Amino acid sequence: MYHSFFDVFSIGIGPSSSHTVGPMRAALRFVKNLEQLQVFNQTEKIQVILYGSLALTGVGHGTPNAVVYGLLGLEADTIDLSQNYIQQIQASGKLLLNQKKEIAFQIEKNIILDKTTFLPEHSNGMKFQAFDNNGNLLKEEIYFSIGGGTIVRSDELNQKNTILKEVPYPFDSCSQLMQICIENKMTIADVVFKNEEYLHSFTDVKKRIEQLISVMNNGIERGIVTEGYLPGNLDIVRRAPIIYRRLEEKFHWNDVDPLMVVDWINLWAFAVAEENACGGQIVTAPTMGSAGVIPAVLRYYERFASKKSPFEVAIGQGIFLLTASAICSLYRTNASISGAEVGCQGEIGVAASMAAAGLTAAMGGTNKQIENAAEIAMEHHLGLTCDPICGLVQVPCIERNAISALKAVNAARLALRGNGTHLVTLDSVIKTMYETGQHLATGYKETSLAGLAKNVFSC
Ligand code: SF4
Repeated sequence: MYHSFFDVFSIGIGPSSSHTVGPMRAALRFVKNLEQLQVFNQTEKIQVILYGSLALTGVGHGTPNAVVYGLLGLEADTIDLSQNYIQQIQASGKLLLNQKKEIAFQIEKNIILDKTTFLPEHSNGMKFQAFDNNGNLLKEEIYFSIGGGTIVRSDELNQKNTILKEVPYPFDSCSQLMQICIENKMTIADVVFKNEEYLHSFTDVKKRIEQLISVMNNGIERGIVTEGYLPGNLDIVRRAPIIYRRLEEKFHWNDVDPLMVVDWINLWAFAVAEENACGGQIVTAPTMGSAGVIPAVLRYYERFASKKSPFEVAIGQGIFLLTASAICSLYRTNASISGAEVGCQGEIGVAASMAAAGLTAAMGGTNKQIENAAEIAMEHHLGLTCDPICGLVQVPCIERNAISALKAVNAARLALRGNGTHLVTLDSVIKTMYETGQHLATGYKETSLAGLAKNVFSC
């Protein structure tokens, strides 16, 4: 099953694609459905119930606010957060449903966190209900946020095709993808580009690549200069501007630390991950919690790994993202990119796998070397748990972005030093990641009930 480049990389607000962007999209879709079903005008009350992981880590992940944005009719990629929507609703007790109809609304009362119920289909479940003036139920829908900001309604869960599209070169597995490449003499990036050109247009695909790179770069540029503390009760100071100042102070071409590049990659990953933690605009790559890995490795490609002209770098960046998208499609088809379903190996691990593949492709690696890089990167993230302290996408998430960006670079370098021959296939490592995720206890899957979340800090 092919997952489109436009779905793999989407633009939204942090700190979590599954806990912020997904619920926002679900709320928006529910409100639009009320209009379609012509019950919008009778709606006087909205109630939302968040279950499982969304309830347990929802406050730290900003889920209730994201639901409010969706109910307001706002889109994740265009929202203007300077509008202080939440403060206005808290002050007035009113919410302008889909920007059209005012209803009474109190975030703490109308959004219920049911921390003890895990819906059997997926741990990121949410129920939306609309009532009329007499308390009669007008409409009820259950949605699941299945990772990377993608949502499905309960009746669509077993119809995966509803979120997938027909393309000229569909693939379910890496072995199929490799076969397509061999038969058509194409690179992995070529396959994705042809599919996307079919779904959209040459111009739209090109524009989208430029837009994604621009949002990633803006995230870095904001993150390296924005001082202050991260939101929440951990009192964590933003470290990217501190690292940046030290790098600028100490950097002299005559006195080059051979590992200085490590500091730069750390800086770029921190910058984006801290922006994400603060609710900034980010690209899901493949999720928000892991959104620092790919921008950091892309910047490394631009600044350190390439001695090409700006035009050639831009081409390389496109190849990077298109290749990374194909790798993500394989994980989405055969495993999961949801920390609530398979732990952090599905978020940071997949990000590293995508970045390693993308970098290898941009550096001119063969398809087999690209597969090799992707599998190395995931192989060394297997078993990685999701245990964010206090449910905030901060610890261990931010440092993890930096560490895994470096792992991705190393995986690409290992693959590029070989001839593409490798024992562990990407298909087998994806299968292993999914099975490992199934065996992880619930406490290690974005519930903040175990691991560092249990042993470090009392929230
Ligand atoms: S530990 Fe990993 S999966 Fe969990 S919230 Fe942090 S980045 Fe996301």
